[in-house]
Amino acid sequence: MQAIRNGIKGDFAEKVNQLNELTASFVPQAIKITPSAEKKAERKPYDIEELNERYEKLTIDERILELYKDFGPEDVLLTSSFAGNSALLLHLFARLTGSKQKVHFIDTGYHFPETLAYKEKLTQMYNLNVIDLKAEVWKHRFTSEYNMWTKDPDLCCKVNKTEPLDAISGNYQVWVSGLIHTQNEHRKGLRLFEEKNGILKFYPILDITPEERDMYILTHDLHFHPLVFEGYGSIGCTHCTVKGTGREGRWFGQAKTECGLHI
Ligand code: SF4
Repeated sequence: MQAIRNGIKGDFAEKVNQLNELTASFVPQAIKITPSAEKKAERKPYDIEELNERYEKLTIDERILELYKDFGPEDVLLTSSFAGNSALLLHLFARLTGSKQKVHFIDTGYHFPETLAYKEKLTQMYNLNVIDLKAEVWKHRFTSEYNMWTKDPDLCCKVNKTEPLDAISGNYQVWVSGLIHTQNEHRKGLRLFEEKNGILKFYPILDITPEERDMYILTHDLHFHPLVFEGYGSIGCTHCTVKGTGREGRWFGQAKTECGLHI
């Protein structure tokens, strides 16, 4: 294995091909957590259509409380990027679960220092239990050495975002994230629950209106990411984020609009 890792040879294109092959097959299976048969058997079956119809009638608070009636807390995976809108979802879960729900943060190694400081601030304020997920060191170094975000951003996101999450997602039945309909065309077409790659995805604030969001922020005196005040509508990695409204500043000038976690 180490020999393979150290043995990437040839020009850049060849190296990318080799890394792609490794990330597609060999390495993920070595590190990916596969739930045991017992754990799978313990999981409650669900009907997505029934879940969507039932939860669509509920308020956001009610949806979050209902989630823990339908699924065990140990089966719920909550992720946050600690970006522009993150305080809202984190505050909701901290308030309604008494901070019992763990929060997973995908640390790409390319975040703004302001994001890491904001993460620490919200962690203290909401008494969060945050777990960092990172790419394997050698793979992250490869993306760094070759400025992969300019040459092959999909591969860069795969290495630094989707693989670290894929490695643990098998432990969970439901993955909660804070996607909102108004963020982009893809998200506009989503429902509260969908099944993707063997995990049930749940978006409790998907249909929140800008007015409802602003009212919640005002009522609970939520703190924004500091870069929001400098004109960043959406905040990701330093290499792929510029100022702009909504998500227009993400992968600016490229066709790419999603990192791969949510498609
Ligand atoms: S957003 Fe950019 S820097 Fe971050 S992982 Fe994706 S391609 Fe790499």
